[in-house]
Amino acid sequence: MAYDALVVAAHPDDAETQMGGTIAKLVSKGQRILLVDLSDGEPTEFAERGVRARQAAEAARILGVDRVSLGLQDRLVLDTPVVRLEVARLIRDHRPRTVYGTGEACVHPDHAAAASIVRAAVFLSRLDKWDEVPGGKHLADQEAWKVSRLFFPHCKMEPAWSEFAFAVDVSEVYDRKCQALAAYESIFDTKGGDRLLALYEAEDQYFGRLLGVRYAEIFRSHSPLLVEDPTVFLPGIHG
Ligand SMILES: [Zn+2]
Repeated sequence: MAYDALVVAAHPDDAETQMGGTIAKLVSKGQRILLVDLSDGEPTEFAERGVRARQAAEAARILGVDRVSLGLQDRLVLDTPVVRLEVARLIRDHRPRTVYGTGEACVHPDHAAAASIVRAAVFLSRLDKWDEVPGGKHLADQEAWKVSRLFFPHCKMEPAWSEFAFAVDVSEVYDRKCQALAAYESIFDTKGGDRLLALYEAEDQYFGRLLGVRYAEIFRSHSPLLVEDPTVFLPGIHG
């Protein structure tokens, strides 16, 4: 199955939190998106084991995307050669033009590991001769694949970035992001007005305000941005 984009994150809910609006917008434009959760997201604060997986599936259904989990242990995700190769194999399987990772992170060690795993996997996926690398045999039967763009959404556990490469206006699809996050009753107090969800929304509004729209999600880019035609940009708030 080919996907236009892979979104690789440490936990079920990270992709939705960091870039749920962008995902909803891409899907509305016909893009096929695969969410890759590195861990199972267990244990959770408000539910028994297994509930979060069902809620993650529901969030994916709401956003209109597919989802897989590598099943690593939440809290103990590590950047290892085995995990790098598993993600590289997924990239070669699905041949996405764009991969989204997690932005620079230091608060949650799983998020920091995810950022480094994705960077490595995108690089490794374009290499050949895996039959000559110990442990790399399961990549040897695949064609190499070069990802065109590696982007990093902002991790909301980190302070707001003062500089970012670009932002996506997600105002029109923001309801869908909120619906997807509301599926996670195992980790958010969705009925009692969850404090974290309110802060997440405040960040998206803050960046929207900077850019002159209601809600925006911000991204950094692994490589400098290049456009064929500079008219692709939307109007800036001050030109
Ligand atoms: Zn997370």
